[in-house]
Amino acid sequence: MKLLNTILNFIFPVNCISCSKKGVDLCLDCIIKSPTAERETTNWIFPLYDYRHIPTKKAIWLLKYKGKRRLAEIFAEALHGKIAEELADLTIFENFREPILIPIPLSKKRMHERGFNQAELICKKLVDLDTEKNLTLVTNVLIKTKETEHQAKIRDRNIRLKNLCNSFEIKNSEKIKNRNIILIDDVTTTGATFNEAKKVLKQKGAKKIIAFAIAH
Ligand SMILES: [Zn+2]
Repeated sequence: MKLLNTILNFIFPVNCISCSKKGVDLCLDCIIKSPTAERETTNWIFPLYDYRHIPTKKAIWLLKYKGKRRLAEIFAEALHGKIAEELADLTIFENFREPILIPIPLSKKRMHERGFNQAELICKKLVDLDTEKNLTLVTNVLIKTKETEHQAKIRDRNIRLKNLCNSFEIKNSEKIKNRNIILIDDVTTTGATFNEAKKVLKQKGAKKIIAFAIAH
């Protein structure tokens, strides 16, 4: 993969949208220096960066809509430190052990349009980075069954919540029974998507569920 990236960068040179450094659309240095998400979010949702910061917003857009998959790896590197930090405490105080990593899924239709799930790409890289083999990636449990309007496009809170209602389904529920779960998504706005996913996972017997997003 590294070699392929090198070759691709040679043929189609890319530069960091923030500092112009060669090699990637947004470099790790710039991501780490991005303003962090200051706004409080609800129960056990940890967003990393402020979505209003233009380079952050643009990088997520490039990943999702322009297929710049390499950015998923960069985001995962940034996320990895934050997860490790939170887990250090959670393991001690909440007995949060051997968590399962679950990316917020896309509907079949959207997956077909995009060809990949950005949250899943981030999760795959997180597993690579997890040298202690703490995390297990599970992608066949939480399923998005309902095609929903983009949450960010809906202004009314009630309609937003309604939009998500019953949009997820659980398969292979034995995999999550009594397990701790880490949900991963690219952006969280009101936390409604995470909360809806949590609700169905809890109903099927999941233990503690926490969530991380790149931006809020
Ligand atoms: Zn940069």
